[in-house]
Amino acid sequence: MAVTETQVIEALRAIRMPQGGDIVAAGMVSGLALRDGHISFAIEVNPAQAPVMEPVRKAAEKAVTDLPGVLSATVVLTAHRAAPQTAQRASGPQRPHGHGHAQPGGNRLNLPGIKHIIAVASGKGGVGKSTTAANLALALHVNGLKVGLLDADVYGPSQPRMMGVKGRPTSKDGKVMEPMENHGIKVMSMGFLIDEETPMIWRGPMVMSAITQLLRDVAWGDLDILVCDLPPGTGDTQLTMSQNVPLSGAVIVSTPQDIALLDAKKGLNMFRKVDVPVLGIIENMSYFACPNCGHRSDIFAHGGARREAERFGVDFLGEIPLDITIRETSDGGHPIVVSDPKSPHAAAYREIAQRIWAKLAGAQARQGPRIVIQ
Ligand code: ADP
Repeated sequence: MAVTETQVIEALRAIRMPQGGDIVAAGMVSGLALRDGHISFAIEVNPAQAPVMEPVRKAAEKAVTDLPGVLSATVVLTAHRAAPQTAQRASGPQRPHGHGHAQPGGNRLNLPGIKHIIAVASGKGGVGKSTTAANLALALHVNGLKVGLLDADVYGPSQPRMMGVKGRPTSKDGKVMEPMENHGIKVMSMGFLIDEETPMIWRGPMVMSAITQLLRDVAWGDLDILVCDLPPGTGDTQLTMSQNVPLSGAVIVSTPQDIALLDAKKGLNMFRKVDVPVLGIIENMSYFACPNCGHRSDIFAHGGARREAERFGVDFLGEIPLDITIRETSDGGHPIVVSDPKSPHAAAYREIAQRIWAKLAGAQARQGPRIVIQ
């Protein structure tokens, strides 16, 4: 028998908080998702209360894991700071370039089957943005959601390789393309449509049209979340995405040293200017875990992203170490979240995914009904 939402809620009600009461009655559970015995949710806390609430998180994870039929439970603490507030804080006074197509509801694509679209961005290339996007998409799926992955990097698509997908998409009606699929998620990339060797020069309007087609002319079906892997920097794709696509938010991937070099800040500021809520920063290649002795070296002054996130008033979503298994698995088409789900790195991606989903679902709960997938 599959575990039900009611059983999960009842198990959580039984856990007392140090200050009294329970997390269900206090309305602190957000982003609950259930699929095939895999359960994930977040507990929204006041950041100052995080140390006190850690035992409650552990107790919640154990209580849910102990329910019959549960295979895994991912429970994270997340700052009780709602996405709408982030949006407000992120709002800039003006929109860039003023081409007239930037108005919400104007040229915005209407994608009713997709509940949330998020952008994964970075200030510069080579920080592991595509690797992070692939693992995040897979982690969101493992956490119980219906997920799509759009490779919006038309200049250098890498998702076909990372997701281990080859071939060309087909079309049933000659109008709409079927997305490719692997590891349980739908994938679309310019890499499926043009040969890798074909040199392509992309001008602004072409980028806009390509992105629009990859979103609008693909049979994505019903998705809880579409993860978009953006090219690095702040170019035409970012502009198109932020102006024409109803983005729920953006996630910035950064290495510790590049945040220090301002590159990630550029990305952050760009999304703020165009009113896209920044959901938080992920520090990739955060520290080096020696595969031989297990020794941990902070080669890039680890912790920079956390400090900068605090300074910028955005959430720090988590850190991923520099580890050869992460490189080998993603470059080999079997990202670590699926190839080694028991590894601490896979768990780190699942926790980050859950924090992101809690922010999105939390924001939605305030506007409408909460989504539970069974
Ligand atoms: P970007 O999209 O930012 O250009 P990629 O995701 O393509 O970067 O990553 C660049 C290279 O670094 C790839 O070979 C990838 O496998 C590797 N890589 C990314 N993240 C990590 C990590 N945490 N540990 C080890 N290698 C990584």
